[in-house]
Amino acid sequence: MSGLLEGKNIVVMGVANERSIAWGITKSLHHQGANLIFTNRQERSRKKLEKLLEKHDIPAKLIVSLDVADDSSIETAFSEIKDNVGIIHGLVHSVAFAKREELDGEYADTSRDGYLLAHEISAYSLVAVTRAAKELMTEGGSIVTQTYIGSERVIPNYNIMGVAKASLEASVRYLAEDVGKYDIRVNAISAGPIRTISAKGVSGFNEKASVVTEKAPLRRNVDQDQVGDATMFFLSDLSRGVTGEVLHVDSGFHIIG
Ligand code: NDP
Repeated sequence: MSGLLEGKNIVVMGVANERSIAWGITKSLHHQGANLIFTNRQERSRKKLEKLLEKHDIPAKLIVSLDVADDSSIETAFSEIKDNVGIIHGLVHSVAFAKREELDGEYADTSRDGYLLAHEISAYSLVAVTRAAKELMTEGGSIVTQTYIGSERVIPNYNIMGVAKASLEASVRYLAEDVGKYDIRVNAISAGPIRTISAKGVSGFNEKASVVTEKAPLRRNVDQDQVGDATMFFLSDLSRGVTGEVLHVDSGFHIIG
């Protein structure tokens, strides 16, 4: 049986190391036969990615540098992708950032620049890359981002990132309406807590993970591979009737009061 993503060119943003959610996604997409293009911000992440790809024998069509804080970097990255790959069919946005000091204590103490930075990197970036990617999605496409339940409920210490994720989820809906007419879909996965570099930046990670094992219907945490498979579903034709959606991949934790 051929893969669900055979012949599809998919851009993956946000592999920093083996623990990254985007790495779980990479493996799922590769298993389904996708051609993969990667973007990194830091040179260090690019080196880690190259090693991982080699170790797992996963070919990359292209790896480009992309800092979502910089419009010219986005423009250059997508023109490089256009020149080397041409048409793309999918984009994985797995990128977020907030200052560590904002992810502890009271939300009311969020600074003006900390507020703006978290929104710029974690929410506006989806708008900017959707605008760039849609130009290359001339055969239709699918865009998937990663969010967290801190957008819907108050999760201790998640603070500004919860507010930025609410903005990200609203952007998913507005963008889905914008690009639906070009047969491009935009969806989000809301994953349960997974130990990654970014997760370690939020105080009290262990408590967040243990409350899931205690209260979630499935009584276990999710991992990168489960999020990878759900993201793959959104990138494949299996989800062709779905857009503007936020799918919880959290062992059912979100239904518990
Ligand atoms: P990682 O730290 O592994 O990945 C975060 C990625 O964001 C890194 O690859 C980093 O790139 C990238 N990034 C940060 N700033 C920029 C920038 N200015 N331009 C381009 N890329 C940037 O953590 P996760 O895998 O946990 O995070 C991925 C996504 O999943 C995030 O949106 C996160 O909020 C979300 N998520 C995470 C959960 C968790 O518990 N871990 C739960 C639910 C959602 P570089 O390494 O090059 O700096």
